[in-house]
Order: sequence, then C-alpha cells, then structure tokens
Amino acid sequence: MKRLLITAAILSLLPALESSAREGSVISPDGKVKVLVSDRGGIPAYSVEYDGIPFLCDSPLGLLTDIGDFTCGMELSEEKHSSVKDDYSLPNIKKSEVHYRANSGTFTFTKDGLSRFEVIFQVSDSDIAFRYKVYAPNQDTKVCRVYSESTGYAFPEGTTTFLCPQMPPMSGFARTTPSYETAYTADDTPGKNGDGYGYTFPCLFRIGEKGWVLVSETGVSPAYCASRLIGNPDGSYTVGYPMEEEYNGNGTSAPGIPVPGYTPWRTLTLGDNLAPIVETTIPFDVVERQYEPKVDYTYSKGSWSWIIRMDDSITFEDQKEYVDFSAAMGWQTVLVDNWWDTRIGREKIAELSAYARSKGVQLCLWYNSNGYWNDAPQGPRDIMNRPNTRRKEMEWLRSIGVKGIKVDFFGSDKQVTMQLYEDILADANDFGLLVVFHGCTLPRGWERMYPNFASAEAVLASENLHFTQERCDTEAFHACLHPFIRNTVAVMDFGGSALNKVYNADNDPSKPGTVRRTSDVFALSTAVLFQSPVQHFALAPNNLHDAPSWAVDFMKNVPTTWDEVKFIDGYPGKFIVMGRRSGEKWFITGINAESGTKEITLDPSLLPRGRANLYSDSPSLEGKKETIRLTGSPIKVSIPCNGGFVIETL
Ligand code: CA
Repeated sequence: MKRLLITAAILSLLPALESSAREGSVISPDGKVKVLVSDRGGIPAYSVEYDGIPFLCDSPLGLLTDIGDFTCGMELSEEKHSSVKDDYSLPNIKKSEVHYRANSGTFTFTKDGLSRFEVIFQVSDSDIAFRYKVYAPNQDTKVCRVYSESTGYAFPEGTTTFLCPQMPPMSGFARTTPSYETAYTADDTPGKNGDGYGYTFPCLFRIGEKGWVLVSETGVSPAYCASRLIGNPDGSYTVGYPMEEEYNGNGTSAPGIPVPGYTPWRTLTLGDNLAPIVETTIPFDVVERQYEPKVDYTYSKGSWSWIIRMDDSITFEDQKEYVDFSAAMGWQTVLVDNWWDTRIGREKIAELSAYARSKGVQLCLWYNSNGYWNDAPQGPRDIMNRPNTRRKEMEWLRSIGVKGIKVDFFGSDKQVTMQLYEDILADANDFGLLVVFHGCTLPRGWERMYPNFASAEAVLASENLHFTQERCDTEAFHACLHPFIRNTVAVMDFGGSALNKVYNADNDPSKPGTVRRTSDVFALSTAVLFQSPVQHFALAPNNLHDAPSWAVDFMKNVPTTWDEVKFIDGYPGKFIVMGRRSGEKWFITGINAESGTKEITLDPSLLPRGRANLYSDSPSLEGKKETIRLTGSPIKVSIPCNGGFVIETL
C-alpha cells in the first residue's frame, strides 16, 4: 500500500506518536465500503476499502485556520456513530425518488486539549461524504478563516485518471476564466497537475481492474468557496481553494466560516463497476433546501438561434421565426441570447414575449453577470450584479411573462462569487423565474438546494462545436465521458442535439461552418444521455424540412425530466449504453466514440415486453427508425463510430 510522502516524512520525525495511534471506522449498510480514520503521527488521516480491497491509501485530513493548525499534532479523542435515512423526491435530477441510507461516524480530533475539529463521515453502499466541523477555542471567537485544507486522496499503484484541467484565472475570452470549459484527458497517469492549476470537480479515477472512484464536492453555498483538485508529484491529490487572481482579484481565496461551523461535503462514489458512478445521487443526498419555491416550477424544452446562427440572429425577425419553430415542435421556450438589449430592445422584447405567449411559448433571456469581474462586453450588463437593478429587472421580466434567465460569465470559485450565484437565484425565485448559469462553476448540490435552479453549463458545450472543427471531430469522445463524470454530479446545459450537417445558418456545406461528424441518431441519443430538466436544443427551423421526420418527431417528444436511470455498459471516452425512464416509458440508448463498430447485446431483463421504436445507424451513419417487438429475447444492436441507437418503448 502506498502512503503519502508527506505522511511518511512526518512519521519519521514523530516516532513517539506512532505507537499511540488511535483508529476508528465507518462501514456502509451493506458492509462493502469501509472508511478507516486514524491519528497516526498526529496527522488526521483516512483510508477506504471496497469489498476488502484498498481503494484509497492513508490520506490526510485537516485544516489550517487562523484559530488553529488542525493538520498535525492532533489526537483522535472521540468517535460517535449513528445512521442516516432520507427519502426525498426531486423532479429535476436523474431520478425522481431517492432513498438514501448511510452510516455516520463523527471523529473528534483535539490538540493540546483546546483546539478541536470533527470529521463527519456518512457512508452509504456506494458513496462516502465527509465534512469538517470547526469549534472555537474560546467563548469570544465567533468566526474563523480557513487558509487551506489538507484533505487528500492517495490512490493505489496502477490507478489511472479521467480529468478536466482547471483553467488559469482571468484568462481566455475577455478574461472570463475559470469557467470549466476545458477538454478532458482520459486514461492518464497520476503525478500531473493539469495545466498547472489543478483539476475541476468531478474527477474520475480507475483503480486498475478493481473498480472506480469519482471524487467531487457538494453543498457549496455562500457559506464557503468552491474547490478544485490539485495533483501532487507523488501521484496523490489535495483539495485546493480558488486562485487569488480569480474574480478580478476581488474577494478572498481563504473562506470564512462561523465557529462552530462546517465546510462543504467532500464526496467519493465508488464501486467495482461504473453503475454506482452513473447512478449516484450523493450530490443531493447530503444537502438541504435553502429556500422554498415561490411558484410551482415547470421544466421545458426549447430552441435557441444563437447556437447555429450566432450574434447575427439576435433580431426581432429571427427570434419570431424561432418562436414559430418552438411552437411547431410543441416546445415551451425560446432562449434569446446575448445583445438582445441593443439589437432588439426592451419594447420589442416585450412585444416578442407577447407574440410567443400567443403561440404557447415563453422566452428565456440572456444576461451578463458583470459587474467588475471580467471584460465580457455582451449586453445586458450591469443588471444582475446588484440587488436593486436585478430585482427591478426581474419584476419587469415577470410582468412581460418571461420564464427564466440565463446568466453568463462568472469565472470564479471564490466565496464572494458563491454569494452572487445564490443572490441571483434567491431573487429570481421571488419573481418566479428559473435560472440557467453559463460561463460558470460546477453546481454542487444546487438542484436540491435552490428550487428554481434549472441548469448550468460548466462543460465544453455545444458552442465549441460551432467554434472549432476539432471539437466536432472529438464530439463523440467527450459525449462518452459526460455521463460518467460531469453530468453525473449535476445537470448539464450542453445545448446540443443539432440536426444541421453544418454549423451555419443555411445548413450549407459550401459555406463556412464546422461540419458535424456524428449521426442524427447520435443527436437523438445525447438528448437522452445529457440530463438537464431545461433543454435548449440546437435544432434549427430548417430542420423541419431538411432533417429526417423521424428525428424531428423524436425531438418533439423526448422528455427532459426522468424517474429512473440505469447504467448498462460502457467505458469513459469510448462508449456508453444507458437507460432512462420517464413515467412508463424507457429510453435505452448508446453512442460509440471508438473507431470500430460496437456490437451490443442487451439483456432482455432490462427491457419491458411489448412494442418499441428502434432508431439505429447503418455503417455509413444513415439513420433509420423501425418498430420492433421486445419479446424477452436478447436484443442485438450495432453502433458505428460517431453513431448511436435509441430504443423507445411504446
Ligand atoms: Ca460558454
């Protein structure tokens, strides 16, 4: 078993403490996940076994704060146990009914009999969540500042990584990074640190042939900053706080908390296969609603002109065409993207909203989050950054019947930015508005915490398919990663499922535009694979006559909310086969990023008997729809490279 270098070094300095090390443990309800906690060498540490196999070697715990150094010289002085049970329903995540069962262990570490903190572990059959509780050293201390966290992850030898590098601060387009829009590296070796700035959560690790671990965090509100994962040269990883330069240098990187007070939950999802990773609900299991919904929020499908026609389409006429398109599709919304304030104007937007409502469609409107944190010039600006302007705007949005807002260009994980996210959400709730974030951080438990939180980008999304041919060329590779990583911990506003062959307004290959490499069936599949309760698809009005009618009909009817999820087969970055259920209807779907055709045999126990639509691709990616009968015998499907299949039960 490999041990962290830092632990080993300190152990040799403190041989006397080694002999008096104390240990405690928490075991999952099914007995398979075991967390061991110790104070060997005065270092708070934990390790994890799955089914008796080490999944995480001795890894440090602890915090460095202005009221005490809780990283060394600590003694494990007390251990308390209880069980946790939570049954809840959420309409906007991967499954509608969740039954969370975990065993909890609280471990108290003390120093000199004065300073103390606790580590609270909650261990369910495939997830570990833990957080710190910091206590005041005396009655006068009410707050503390956390400089750093030594929380670490030391994986066994032979572990490989699936990671998304964190972006440098105040870089990229108009100095808007970090915005979680970086390409993943799959099956890599540990010992690196991305581009020098660590990695964005969630982070996936393959423990050789033994299994998988997904590392993330949840429950991040203005009560703390969001974190990243720093890769160490010895192959271990450590929780890292935001970078000083983020948010134009404003706000601190070192979060402040009241004492006693908590840090967010660090989470690990693990198993000997990928089903626990794809099906996990841990981001939502351990968080609490921050306010009650002011209205009954309903989720929706819609269109947006910007993804195909870009800024030139932000005109009254184009948006009216998209309203008609959404109406023809039976969709509920049109997202009007950046610059509508100057290119369309407020009066005409009110007129467009009235026109849309006459067609049974509502508008969602784009906003710049700025402010003073980056150079993004797109309007409307300087509205969402302050409560007085924001609330006045939201009152107007409600008065003209707008359904929701998309707020863009945040670029920071600092505590002050978490405050901005929550302020926008809480104010929008007062006016019954749904909120989608772009150019943003990963939402960490927000689907349950904030009832009007609809979706977030935090991914190299569909706009990049428009921007560069390389993204189109590697679309299937990334699509085969998201269900295992980014999209499994949070809703993902990808804005995809294009049926244009070319990303230009005329869908004309003789004109400039990136070329889609994936099939139409692949596009249908991602509408199921990529989970977001509010979807703005990349279909365009021309698709009503230039795309196959079966594809258009599928996109009219595909659900955006789901009752159940089932992982069937796959490997991150190579292929994925999974099922989602909405009501009585199952959608079993898969895509393939590998060069050869993937032959899949579906276990008949996965499928209810009866009629179903099968959408599939020929070797040359010609799609077709046929009606099949599910009789209880195995179903064989072939998925060519860049292709897909969908079985939709009838
Ligand atoms: Ca973006």
